[in-house]
Amino acid sequence: MPEMLTIALSKGRILEQTLPLLSPLGIEPLEDPERSRNLVLPTTDPAVRLIIVRATDVPTYVAGGGADVGVAGKDVLMEQGGHGLYEPIDLGIARCRLMVAGHPDASLEGRRLRVATKFVNITRRHFAGKGRQVDLIKLYGSMELAPLVGLADVIVDLVDTGNTLRANGLEPLEQIADISSRLVVNKASMKLRHREIKPLLGRIAEVVGHRDDR
Ligand code: AMP
Repeated sequence: MPEMLTIALSKGRILEQTLPLLSPLGIEPLEDPERSRNLVLPTTDPAVRLIIVRATDVPTYVAGGGADVGVAGKDVLMEQGGHGLYEPIDLGIARCRLMVAGHPDASLEGRRLRVATKFVNITRRHFAGKGRQVDLIKLYGSMELAPLVGLADVIVDLVDTGNTLRANGLEPLEQIADISSRLVVNKASMKLRHREIKPLLGRIAEVVGHRDDR
């Protein structure tokens, strides 16, 4: 029997919005991935299985050959560099913006800024591109808190509706990038399993292209 094709997904937005792209291809998990404790899920296609990993681990699994294909946010790929991966399809899902945000009267000019974020590489690059050195404060969550308690002047975070910022008296100040999730493919798999992966990519691109919200 040929080896299974493994697709790495993460719980939450990415899983929710990727499953409707896979079901027209006859790929549906046999158990509810949001509820199951199993991390390897067989699907209705006996040649395809899903693995459930943390969003920030998807590139590591795919680049390292733990999965042939995966779905990763552009934010994660930009932060980690996307080494060892092909990124052939913008799935147009889990869309949001990566923004600098802070108090409405926060100034991005003048003195050296303290910036709290989990996206330290992107943030460093962004401000360096504007010729600015900043003090980076690495956080793992609840970034909005940092300006409220004086830990940082501004934050860099993902913004969708803006509700989280507003609820904390913050507002978007500057956009860094438009974000959406990308299909990523292991470079060796793309070569060695071309016959399985090429049609899969073609069909996913077709489903994505036919969605009416694009
Ligand atoms: P919102 O209040 O709708 O602007 O959403 C902002 C919160 O949701 C922040 O904590 C973000 O980190 C998170 N968020 C929004 N969109 C995404 C996304 N596409 N992927 C991951 N996290 C997101």
